[in-house]
Amino acid sequence: MKPTPLIAGNWKMNKLPSEAEGWANDFKSALTQLDVNADVLICAPYTHLLSLKTIFADSPVHVGAQDVSAHDEGAYTGEISAAMLKDAGVSYVIIGHSERREYHNESDALINQKVKKTLAAGMRPILCVGESEAQRDAGDAETVVLAQLKAGLADINITNPTDIVIAYEPIWAIGTGKTATADDAQAMSHTIRQALESLFADKAAGIRVLYGGSMKPANAAELLAKADINGGLIGGASLKVDDLSAIIKVS
Ligand code: PEP
Repeated sequence: MKPTPLIAGNWKMNKLPSEAEGWANDFKSALTQLDVNADVLICAPYTHLLSLKTIFADSPVHVGAQDVSAHDEGAYTGEISAAMLKDAGVSYVIIGHSERREYHNESDALINQKVKKTLAAGMRPILCVGESEAQRDAGDAETVVLAQLKAGLADINITNPTDIVIAYEPIWAIGTGKTATADDAQAMSHTIRQALESLFADKAAGIRVLYGGSMKPANAAELLAKADINGGLIGGASLKVDDLSAIIKVS
């Protein structure tokens, strides 16, 4: 049986806190009109987390962060710790998004530390992996993705399959309007699942593997129907109540 899908919005650096409040109230009422079969998550900027948590308190929507420090506390200006996020009511943390790997030079070793800190604080990491267009064209997509996966999950133990989430996000599909074909996304998700089996044995079947990369209402149903795709990490389309609701509807 497939695990309960996770539909996760990644707002990136969008929306003011005041705009987020209005959006959250609209989204909450839109959800009451839907038969929701997925876990729903909004990963917002840090300044929005507390108010979103309050607004979503009496709804099924979880609140997530887009990054976390690899340090516990102290002189790390601008950083935010796993304990702070946990105390603010965060339950999921996106780690190793390609934008952080690229613009902030995040290494697999750093990403692995962040995964560990997130788990230790009692939250669920969403580990992002994905190849560039050049790597795919060179036939290296699987090698790249598996290397990121194994390094990101090095020395990780889980108790339950839902403790961790993997997001397969081909870089060339993020924010570009290009989407991997459902068959290609399934093929890579299956490869990821096999690697998870070698790491976590029979727990692998229940680990959510998300697809991310220009998922929208028009392509979500086909992607989400695939055997090894258990939800979506959604950037642009998660900024609009109607688009995110439409994706939830077909999940
Ligand atoms: C993302 O930010 O992880 C993402 C997949 O963005 P988009 O849906 O806009 O491609």
